[in-house]
Amino acid sequence: MPGFEQFGDEERTQVNDVLDSGILMRYGFDNLRNGHWKAKEFEQTFAHKMKADYCQLVSSGTAALTVALASAGIGAGDEVIMPTFTFVASFESILQIGAIPVLVDIDDTLTLDPEAVKAAITPKTKCVMPVHMCGSMADLRSLKAICEKHNLILLEDACQAIGGSFEGVPLGSYGDLGCFSFDFVKTITCGEGGAVVTNTKKFAENADRYQDHGHDHIGSDRGAETHPHLGYNYRISELHAAVGLGQLGKLEHFVSLQKRNYQILRETLLEIEGVSFRTVPEGGVENYSFLTFYLPTASAAENAHRALVEGGIDACFYWFSNNWHYVRGWEHLLEQKSLGKLPAEVKDRLKEVCQKDFSQSDAYMGRAISMLIKLNWDEETMRSRANTIKNILK
Ligand SMILES: *Cc1c(COP(=O)(O)O)cnc(C)c1O
Repeated sequence: MPGFEQFGDEERTQVNDVLDSGILMRYGFDNLRNGHWKAKEFEQTFAHKMKADYCQLVSSGTAALTVALASAGIGAGDEVIMPTFTFVASFESILQIGAIPVLVDIDDTLTLDPEAVKAAITPKTKCVMPVHMCGSMADLRSLKAICEKHNLILLEDACQAIGGSFEGVPLGSYGDLGCFSFDFVKTITCGEGGAVVTNTKKFAENADRYQDHGHDHIGSDRGAETHPHLGYNYRISELHAAVGLGQLGKLEHFVSLQKRNYQILRETLLEIEGVSFRTVPEGGVENYSFLTFYLPTASAAENAHRALVEGGIDACFYWFSNNWHYVRGWEHLLEQKSLGKLPAEVKDRLKEVCQKDFSQSDAYMGRAISMLIKLNWDEETMRSRANTIKNILK
């Protein structure tokens, strides 16, 4: 997955354009910037690649989630349904706007279980946020039907699945809003960065203003702009956008490298009894950033993971015991350990939703092992790695 494995002249050229003018900000200074608008150019190119009408580039994937929620008008006391298996950014972004994260079980796709989503809907629910973890996606067709029936926003977190698709639509563009991360370990990196895509003009306008203090971005005098609503600063710098622009041109190449390496590993693991693969919903095409498989029991998976690590296999994850990606490790959320006071309404409801039983999620996560797929493993390296993994697992 990490795009940083393949830095080259593309990134250097883009960054040097910015350094030559010295204009590190994405807005203004029209006469001084030698015609370079890296953030704007990234947004246009990315929207096109994602088959979306609009893209808003921001400072991180976490910022993208916050901006997306805010731009859809979600706020204090609203409930947002999210999965038990994700990165902490999911609930951080929801709490950031005063809303309430409602944790919901995953199924064998390792993403939101549509039945569990239905059961979690209340009169306060405003949004369903599936997270396409480790390169594969949620059952977006079912989730969209639920959202349409209950008039909810469908917000895809595609931070780990850029380049994948569902029913021919790029992941991130199937729902009302989609978010991406370009942090240092993602498939495409800006160093730090993120993006929101949408086809809804109103959301795009709101996002454009919200991520820059509410600026309306009309005219060429920043000081004279008006502020139609409150905002914040989630802007990306022109330097980060330039790095991303260099990487973006290589997205399809990166995904093809991931696919080749993924297939080598998958074919090899197919030969092992007891190994089964994570379910990919019908109509879905992965981005191949990880290969995730199940073993028959949780103890078999735990032992296998230990053996793999001891056998020198890096980039191998047992998420069930991970501090950052699974609900069991989120005691700061479960115990509401905030620095300052949380809004009373949020705190009370959080206490309730955190007491839920997540044994269905445990049953899947406990048996799952994920292998990161790197770009710089050539075919021979990948075959030899796959064989080592096979021998250890056997
Ligand atoms: C990386 C990631 C984020 C957050 O992105 P940052 O750019 O690191 O803030 C959000 N969700 C998922 C699933 C991620 O993997």
